[in-house]
Amino acid sequence: MDHLSPDTLAVHAGRDDLTALGVHALPIDLSSTNPLPDIELGGDSYEAIATGGDPIDGGSFIYQRLWNPTVARFEQALALLEHTGGAVAFGSGMAGIGAAIQAACLESGHRHVVALRPLYGGTDQVLATNLYGTETTFVHSLEAVADALRPDTALVVAETPANPTLELVDIKALVAAAGEVPVMIDNTFATPVLQNPGDFGAAMVAHSATKYIGGHGDVIGGVVAGSRRWVEAVRRVRAASGALAHPLSAYLMHRGLATLPVRIRAQQEGAKVVAGYLAEHDAVERVFYPGLPDADPQGLIGTQMRGPGAMLAVDVRTHEAAARLTHDVQLFTHAVSLGGVDSLIQHPASLTHRPVAPEERPGAGIVRLSIGLEDPSDLIDDLARALG
Ligand SMILES: *Cc1c(COP(=O)(O)O)cnc(C)c1O
Repeated sequence: MDHLSPDTLAVHAGRDDLTALGVHALPIDLSSTNPLPDIELGGDSYEAIATGGDPIDGGSFIYQRLWNPTVARFEQALALLEHTGGAVAFGSGMAGIGAAIQAACLESGHRHVVALRPLYGGTDQVLATNLYGTETTFVHSLEAVADALRPDTALVVAETPANPTLELVDIKALVAAAGEVPVMIDNTFATPVLQNPGDFGAAMVAHSATKYIGGHGDVIGGVVAGSRRWVEAVRRVRAASGALAHPLSAYLMHRGLATLPVRIRAQQEGAKVVAGYLAEHDAVERVFYPGLPDADPQGLIGTQMRGPGAMLAVDVRTHEAAARLTHDVQLFTHAVSLGGVDSLIQHPASLTHRPVAPEERPGAGIVRLSIGLEDPSDLIDDLARALG
């Protein structure tokens, strides 16, 4: 299937056996346990799957925590879109990110992590609190990564575009700076439609599928894509930790993939218009959007990314102005999360980035907007009213 264009893959990947099965929609298998052909094949199947491999011919899937065909279909489709050897789906983005960190530590026998800020608040918190027994050196620029590396560094973590102020990180340069150390990129904001970090050498690509991949605000899920070696390592963690994706979630994530390219492109067009409007508004100190003129000095859009995406942030100068804006909009829902078909607005310093150390939090006047599929002129009218 890998010769097909991404738009075609989004619709067809993970579905190539459906006609032979006599069905048209994705089948959902809810079995928590699976019949065993006999003791020997049962044991061999367990061994194959629990150690991170694929099910064996004529064997059993054993148990849903180890393998589920509905989840595996979604993983296969996502891996095709991310250009990776495989993918592993989780019950949430944070479960996937946690498993990737644990896999990197288990594979290397080390526990030091280098993390490039800014990061999603939850990821920052997991690393800053050493939840998984890691020890993290936080850096604020790509140039500082090489100096932060130690002989016992297990993983380098970065996010691009980064949350909430949309900084772009040059993945190829980061991978070069990391040397032998694997790099994990959180690709939630870009999605595989706009960016494939694996093509630039990232070992693992993490997504909160709760956001664009699900796309409709009705599923929590995550996925980690990578080479076969990393997929097996991450699967072993998932089998043991139990952070699996439920088949109904996998169904929704897989269904979301079909419209992901058209949603991303349409939402991105809307975001460009809204960002251009806000950039001219007196009440706005600054707009953070990689698609604005001079906002991408490294020239990563067009080389690393296929477009600037549909997330933006504005600095309205004060906490009070941010509170008023988030309260006074009507079409935008004031809520965390992002990437759905409807527009959301939220104040990172009080919400998504609350777990981050106060001195590292985004400014009090910064408000983050996730642009949905509404007509951008309606969104602009709503923002104009709320900004006064
Ligand atoms: C939401 C989000 C996460 C966490 O994902 P959950 O599905 O909420 O666990 C991680 N990274 C980014 C960039 C996110 O936006």
